[in-house]
This record gives sequence, structure tokens and C-alpha cells, in this order.
Amino acid sequence: TKMTPQEVLAMIREKDIKAVDLRFMDFPGIWQHFTIPAGKLDEGTFEDGLGFDGSSIRGWQAINESDMLLMPVPETTFVDPFTELPTIVMICNIQDPITREDYTRDPRNVARKTVNYLKSTGIADTVYIGPEAEFFIFDDVRYDHTPSQGFYSIDSSEAEWNRGADERPNLGHKLRHKEGYFPCPPADQLMDIRNEMMQLMIDSGIDIEAQHHEVATAGQCEIDMRFDELVRMGDQVCLYKYIIKNVAFQHNKTATFMPKPLFGDNGSGMHTHISFWKGENPIFAGSGYAGLSDEALFAIGGILKHAPAILAFSNPTTNSYKRLVPGYEAPVNLAYSQRNRSAACRIPMYSPSPKAKRIEFRCPDPSANPYLTFSAITMAAIDGIQNKIHPGEPLDKNIYDLEPEELAQVPKAPGSLADALDALEKDHEFLLRGDVFTEDVISTWINYKRKNEVEAINLRPHPYEFCLYYDV
Ligand code: GLN
Ligand code: MG
Ligand code: MG
Ligand code: MG
Repeated sequence: TKMTPQEVLAMIREKDIKAVDLRFMDFPGIWQHFTIPAGKLDEGTFEDGLGFDGSSIRGWQAINESDMLLMPVPETTFVDPFTELPTIVMICNIQDPITREDYTRDPRNVARKTVNYLKSTGIADTVYIGPEAEFFIFDDVRYDHTPSQGFYSIDSSEAEWNRGADERPNLGHKLRHKEGYFPCPPADQLMDIRNEMMQLMIDSGIDIEAQHHEVATAGQCEIDMRFDELVRMGDQVCLYKYIIKNVAFQHNKTATFMPKPLFGDNGSGMHTHISFWKGENPIFAGSGYAGLSDEALFAIGGILKHAPAILAFSNPTTNSYKRLVPGYEAPVNLAYSQRNRSAACRIPMYSPSPKAKRIEFRCPDPSANPYLTFSAITMAAIDGIQNKIHPGEPLDKNIYDLEPEELAQVPKAPGSLADALDALEKDHEFLLRGDVFTEDVISTWINYKRKNEVEAINLRPHPYEFCLYYDV
């Protein structure tokens, strides 16, 4: 439903809305907001925007004046399901108040430019994205920010599992490691909470396909959104996380999209399904391997070739690389396959319909900035198609049947955030086309991540170092 400014104002009157909440994403990828009384919104607001100070927003400090404009996008409107005062939310684009140009470091702007660039190439006019963002629900989390301490503990289901029966009785239905997918209640104790999340998502305009417990021990969940157009899916991932975190919070629990919160169990991925369409035609469907077209195979070629650089956006935390290890259904091999789940690109075979034909890129995790991630994957696919990048042979053999020499031939995902950032530094020309990502966006991203995350983590004593080295 594409709403107009007039329809937003009519909705405010009809539903007796008292407040308008304005949202945008900071550079790393977290929703920010401020609120105005509903009476302050009129048709002029949609043209003139709303001023705010952008200087304290992460990754945006370098702007000359730091005064910025929020431009509310009427078609993103939804009623906030959590506020006491009746409130509508609108997602905003960011503009420079002087030049009135869209701000290049606004992640949503990068996503909008990606779609425009795709259209300009003539390859396709629509890119559909379907992310499967997994998450954990924990009872509690405690960590200490004190730099000298750096200590944290998660009072998770795992900790509960390790606790003695006298301390926490009735563990008869407790899920063990990797056994969460997906027995019925009472083993699954999160059905009600996921249903509540699912229903609020539907009420907020998200098309939901399914919800389920995931593989990891009690606490890992997934709710599946139907695929949608790239920019709208970026918006929806924000709303998805917002609903999940707030419903959990209302139940005195906490939800996390951290990729690998528990050692020794599955991490949380955000497998991302992608397909290109021209009018009514799904151009990834064809008669090649796994029912793919040449375009789709070249798109895979582009994604695999640029994967190390893409991962700087799609797996953008130091924690992300603790998930990309063998043994947990997360990909390590930069290869493709119609069945192998350790391959970075999988071609789902659930449906024979050409309309369902798509590529599943399994590397991304839910700590990613969705706008930048979906954009980077799309730009790599475009590069693959334009330059006919052949993806090589599929990795269809069971990985365990491969000779070690054979397996060593298969390129691997970067082993750390530092490696992925190095890869992005060397390989980002494909992202600059159509002015989609600018050199400034790339270097700001790399510098931000190196300084605030890679170096910050390296400087701090790790809890496990106490285990290894305390008694040296
Ligand atoms: N949690 C797994 C990952 O990290 C995926 C599990 C699944 O959905 N099959 O990617
Ligand atoms: Mg899934
Ligand atoms: Mg899953
Ligand atoms: Mg999947």
C-alpha cells in the first residue's frame, strides 16, 4: 500500500493519532528516532523535512554543518504497536538542508541508488530480497562496559542447562545443543512469544510466511518474511528487529541478533534470497544447472568473486566470524550448490516454479546493515552478469567425501572482520558504479569498523584468556 501525505494525515485523524515518530538508520545499522506531536505534521512537512542535529549520529560526524533534514516517506507509515500514546512511525530519508541533496552516508539512500542503478543497466527492473534473520531470546544478559574489566556473562539457556537440577528443576523438556529444530511444546517454550511477534508484524504490514524454533539449544528462533523489493525489505528488517526486541522486552526477556552468542552451538544467520525480475519475467529461471538462467549463474559468479568484500557489510562484526566455521550449518566455502549448506550460495529446490527461482546467499548474518548488505550483494550480481563471470563448477559432493587437496582448492570466506575489511579496501570498484557507494562511504565504513570494533576488541583482555592464561 503506497500511502500519500494526504492519506497519512487522514489516518492521523481517523485513528486519533497523537504522535509521529520519525526513524532513520545510523551508519552501522541501528534505528534512531525522535517524536513530534501529530499536530505538527502537515503536507508541508513532507516537502520541507524536519531538521535535526546529525553530528552525534554514529559514522556521520564528518558532515560540514551537521544540521540535517529528515524527509518522511509516507508509504513507510505504520502504527507503533508498543507506545502508550497512539503513535504512527514513518521511516525517513536524509537530506542536506542547504543543497537539498540526498545524504550519501544515509544507508537507505545507498539502497535507493542500487535499485535505480539496476534499472539503468537494463538487466532488470526489480530486485527481490528475502532475508531469514535468526535470533536468540535469552532470559537475561549481563555485561560490564568497564574497559579495565571487559567481563561479560550471558545468563542463557545454556547456563541454565549447566546448572544443577536442584537449582533449576523440571528440565525434562529442555532442548539440548543443536536439537532445537523443531520439536513441539513443551520442548519449544517460545511458541507463544513468537506468535505474538508474528501477529504484530502482520498488523504492521509485514507479510509473514512462517515462524519456528531454530536449531540451537532453547532460545534460537526465526520468523520468515515473504520476499519484497530491496528498499522496502531494508525497512522491514528494521521493523522486524524492533518488534522482536520489544516483545521480548515486554516478557522480561531479551532478544539478540548477535551472530554467535553461544560457543559450541549454531549461530544466527541472515540467509539472503535474491532474484532479478524484468516486468513479469523472473530472469534467474532458465534451463541451466538447478533450473538457473545464464544471468543467474553469472550473478552467482559475481557474488562469489566479490564475497570477501561483501562480507565487510553482510558480516560486519568481529563476532560474525565466530559463526562462519565448519559444523554449524554456516557457510565457509565460497562455492555454490543446490544442496550443500556449507556452500556460500545455495539454490533452493523447494518449488519447480520459475517464479520461485532464486539464489540463497548464506553468509550474511543479522548484525548486518540490511540496506548496505542487500545493495552490495545486488551490485556484485550485476557485475557478474555484465562481465559474464563464470561461477565455476558447483560444489555438489559431500564435503566430507572430498580429498583434502580438492577441498583446499575451494576459496574460503574471510576468517575475521579485519580480513573482510582488507578485502573491501582492495575490491570495491563494483560498488562505486552508478554512484551507489561512494569512496567516502567505503572508507568511512572501513575506518569506523577498524577503529571502533577490530582494534577495540584486540585491546581488551578476553574472558577466555583468563581460562587459558590466568595460571601461567
Ligand atoms: N543457523 C544457521 C546459520 O548460521 C542456519 C540454520 C538453518 O537455517 N538451516 O546460518
Ligand atoms: Mg529458514
Ligand atoms: Mg534458519
Ligand atoms: Mg536458509
